[in-house]
Amino acid sequence: MNVILLGAPGAGKGTQASQISDRFGLPHISTGDIFRENIKNATPIGLLAKSYTDKGQLVPDEVTCQIVEDRLSRADCKNGYLLDGFPRTIAQAEALDKFAKIDYVININVDFGLLMDRLCGRRVCKDCGESYHISRLNGETKCSRCGGELYQRKDDNPETVQSRLDVYKAQTAPLIDYYTKKGIILNFTSTDAPPSVLFAEIEAKLIELSK
Ligand code: ADP
Ligand code: ZN
Repeated sequence: MNVILLGAPGAGKGTQASQISDRFGLPHISTGDIFRENIKNATPIGLLAKSYTDKGQLVPDEVTCQIVEDRLSRADCKNGYLLDGFPRTIAQAEALDKFAKIDYVININVDFGLLMDRLCGRRVCKDCGESYHISRLNGETKCSRCGGELYQRKDDNPETVQSRLDVYKAQTAPLIDYYTKKGIILNFTSTDAPPSVLFAEIEAKLIELSK
């Protein structure tokens, strides 16, 4: 099963992705994580990516598509994968069509009014990637799952978040139409309920479809 997770920044893609990945045994491929790892290690890709991610802009399509094509050619993707944060433009989706066959696109809709606060208050575990919101941490600075240190992503500040939301509306939202026309989109809505509620809906749908 080859699956794409689509949704605005802050819609909860990362959280859903790790649960879907565990439950269905699909490697979780996040282009954002790949860029952050490269930035941390100061690789040539990282140095290039940083100038875009710092401003909340997209890394150029050619670079991003090449990274994904390479990643999908690895052995662990043979029996399926979960793409998180890719594609993000129509050009990326068209490139992907040339080297992959996607079965489902899980689209997570969310009220835009919730996103600024969600993202600016987000803290992430540096070890396992779990996300938290400061309003529920009560001053805790460690991950309750693995004990890792929590940090604030450099792009989770009001200015960069605004630009990420604008980029999403202009460049990524058109993908909803693109995949609806292909007949492979599955629509869900993220609310203020715990992420496990949304996960249960996604899980049920994927099980039903794989029967
Ligand atoms: P979010 O969805 O919360 O904005 P991600 O972790 O998915 O965050 O991505 C962080 C940044 O990495 C993006 O703002 C962008 O600069 C870059 N990036 C990630 N995926 C892509 C992509 N498919 N194409 C171009 N840039 C990307
Ligand atoms: Zn952790």
